[in-house]
Amino acid sequence: MNLLEKLDAAAAARKALLPDGVGAFGIPIEEVFSATEARIGDRRVLLMGTNNYLGLTFAPECIRAAHDAIDKEGTGTTGSRMANGSYFGHRALEREFADFYQCSSGIVFTTGYQANLGVISGLVGPGDTVLIDGDSHASIYDGCILSGANIIRFKHNDMADMEKRLRRLGNSVETTLIIAEGIYSMLGDQALLADIVQLKNKYGGLLLLDEAHSLGVLGKTGQGLVEETGLLNEVDFITGTFSKSLCSIGGFCVSNHPQLEQLRYVSHPYIFTASPSPATIASTRAALELLRKGSHLRDKLWSNCRQLYSQLKEVGYKLGPDPGPVIAAVVETPGQALLLWQQLLEHNIYVNLILPPAAPEGKSLVRCSVNAAHTMEQIKYVGDTFAKLYSLINAKT
Ligand code: PMP
Repeated sequence: MNLLEKLDAAAAARKALLPDGVGAFGIPIEEVFSATEARIGDRRVLLMGTNNYLGLTFAPECIRAAHDAIDKEGTGTTGSRMANGSYFGHRALEREFADFYQCSSGIVFTTGYQANLGVISGLVGPGDTVLIDGDSHASIYDGCILSGANIIRFKHNDMADMEKRLRRLGNSVETTLIIAEGIYSMLGDQALLADIVQLKNKYGGLLLLDEAHSLGVLGKTGQGLVEETGLLNEVDFITGTFSKSLCSIGGFCVSNHPQLEQLRYVSHPYIFTASPSPATIASTRAALELLRKGSHLRDKLWSNCRQLYSQLKEVGYKLGPDPGPVIAAVVETPGQALLLWQQLLEHNIYVNLILPPAAPEGKSLVRCSVNAAHTMEQIKYVGDTFAKLYSLINAKT
């Protein structure tokens, strides 16, 4: 089979899995009206499948900051952080992240994906080990592959399995990086951080926590799981993204290890790509300021999360164990998941359809993401519609 035939075979396999479902992926959003509404085709839909957790995509402060930055600094930096792409704003945002996490240094990357790629591949290399949760995001897996380190997975949130693997590492634990996520993106469950820290302290290694989905969501001031659990000082490196609660695009890493600074000189995903645009940096700085200002957005988010989680649970949907902004209904087959997804769209609700191999353990998911801008009325409508459609996923395949 030549290279193009291999792609044809992959396309045929995808079609066989979901004959009518091809349009479900990468669906065109024609117009965006607000943080909660958009037009898909000729439908005005409720957006229940974005990562806009604090609902800040149209925050006037962020929009104004982005406009000003374009006016003053132009549309792009046209260069790497290591060359001409480190403006005042990039450095200021790094200081602001470090200050937010009470850490000595912070680095800004062009995306969250690259933050994981850059930090992991800068920290470990051939001969070293990464010990990662099996449900880790693709950016973590790809960072591990790029690094050339020995990759060991423990079963998702299974602390006995993690301990078994740490014990087996013996002396090589000294050159081991342990990686977990604050909130896992598929089922919305949280890392068992207290247990992970306890095992790290018992056996050794460094710990990296990806707070992509938990920044702005967990903790009194929105730092994430590190704050929710009071374990900020036990985590060696925190990575995260601007593309969720901060409503732009980019990524970061903070740490109290002074060696973090050295990553700027060895990390290809930091060096060999253009830096985030001035508008991106400016709106991210404004969003971080809003996130830090108060807990009202987080409080609103959580009352929405609890409402939808309890409505879906009550009807009988199989959900992840922790209520939170990521609420995924686990469905038996890809066909049922597609049917539910299509019917929700017929009711003017857009959610994410996630099929194997993207979801863990071959699961098929219909995933909602709740945000602070949703009204309680919108949330209840989504819950009621899921209730109305419950029989679909039990009756048909
Ligand atoms: N880490 C996790 C856990 C994620 O879910 C994502 C994005 N879905 C990323 C990293 C990458 O973030 P970005 O969108 O900024 O590339």
